[in-house]
Amino acid sequence: MVINEEDKAMKQIAILGSTGSIGTQTLDVVRRNKDIQVTGLSAGKNIRLLEEQIREFRPEMAAVWEEKAAGELRDKIRDTATRVVSGMEGLVELARMEHSDILVTAVVGMIGIRPTMEAIRAGKDIALANKETLVTAGHLIMPLAKTCGVKILPVDSEHSAIFQALHGEDPSQIKKLLITASGGPFRGKKRQELEHVTLADTLRHPNWVMGRQITVDSATLVNKGLEVMEAQWLFGVSLDQIQVVVQPQSIIHSMVEFRDGAVMAQLGTPDMRLPIQYALYYPQRRYLEGDRLDFTALRGLDFDVPDMDTFLGLPMAMEAARTGGTMPTVFNAANEAAVRLFLEEKIRFLDIYEIIRSSMDHHTPCPEPDLEKILETEQETYDFIESGWV
Ligand code: NDP
Repeated sequence: MVINEEDKAMKQIAILGSTGSIGTQTLDVVRRNKDIQVTGLSAGKNIRLLEEQIREFRPEMAAVWEEKAAGELRDKIRDTATRVVSGMEGLVELARMEHSDILVTAVVGMIGIRPTMEAIRAGKDIALANKETLVTAGHLIMPLAKTCGVKILPVDSEHSAIFQALHGEDPSQIKKLLITASGGPFRGKKRQELEHVTLADTLRHPNWVMGRQITVDSATLVNKGLEVMEAQWLFGVSLDQIQVVVQPQSIIHSMVEFRDGAVMAQLGTPDMRLPIQYALYYPQRRYLEGDRLDFTALRGLDFDVPDMDTFLGLPMAMEAARTGGTMPTVFNAANEAAVRLFLEEKIRFLDIYEIIRSSMDHHTPCPEPDLEKILETEQETYDFIESGWV
């Protein structure tokens, strides 16, 4: 791709994880707006879809995690000008690309941390979907972003809702953040009823269509726990200033209560393209095609408190956040490994909690870990689970 004078007026974005749920919806936002240019795309191994995306968006670079798949892709797209890179080096190169303003981190897992840090160092704003980045390395990312003068723009619908509610407000006036949760497919069930739920039951989210890991995380409430941890870093509040509210219709995406008692909420139909577009154009709003809330049809909004005795993902996340240091990494890595086993149907739903619990109990936390220590802790957690559960 040759950058000409006209292109320079366009927003240039690179996407980590362009073949996933957030990645493809980001490309849909690009498709509908004519002033964003895609400079980089990346995938783990899905080169079939990546090839289609390359042919449509003609990026300068494409990164594929697996070297073999990268080689196959190089052969397939010989007729294009896109350069294919691979592995962590490839992701980092893509994150730092000269011709990009924003890196969309839509990759799943802790793999996203290093490229995100490199992009920040290179002065790129971050449209952040990847949860693991702030959960495990928030103490490194937020100060780095401040030093480098880059924006961390939340893509997750809950954080975007809070970000929108805070627009133009003084953050020191925040009393608390109210993060909403649908409650997932098993809302209302008790522990005994969860003993025999299947993978198919778990993947049936009531309101959102998302990647497989986050759909399982929504059912366990681990996802809500990760969001609480992220919100602490993004908005600089304490854990005590965050409350999770169950809002089964997923219409209120989250709220902020201010010190004067006012509550600002962001509402809408469940459509991830809205927070994605808001992050890409912030502080501008743009027209977005799609369903609108119809208050004449909407007969009510329900609220509830999360069942912390049954859905242990949330209280365990809070515990990990309170402990701090490497404990959020253990919580996250244990969950990642457990969900992988659950998706392979090697363990039952409730074993996910057991695996997280035993990993956290086994770990001696280290305060203020650097990136090496975080990645070492991740590996140690995987090894611990491998020795006991696989
Ligand atoms: P998906 O599983 O749908 O997509 C993951 C993407 O990451 C795919 O493009 C996948 O490529 C890529 N990927 C996986 N492993 C690697 C790797 N080693 N190197 C490079 N790319 C890799 O996930 P989601 O889109 O659902 O979620 C992405 C992130 O956003 C997660 O952290 C999630 O928690 C967060 N998030 C998601 C939301 C949603 O609505 N989906 C909402 C808010 C946050 P491949 O296709 O080849 O496997």
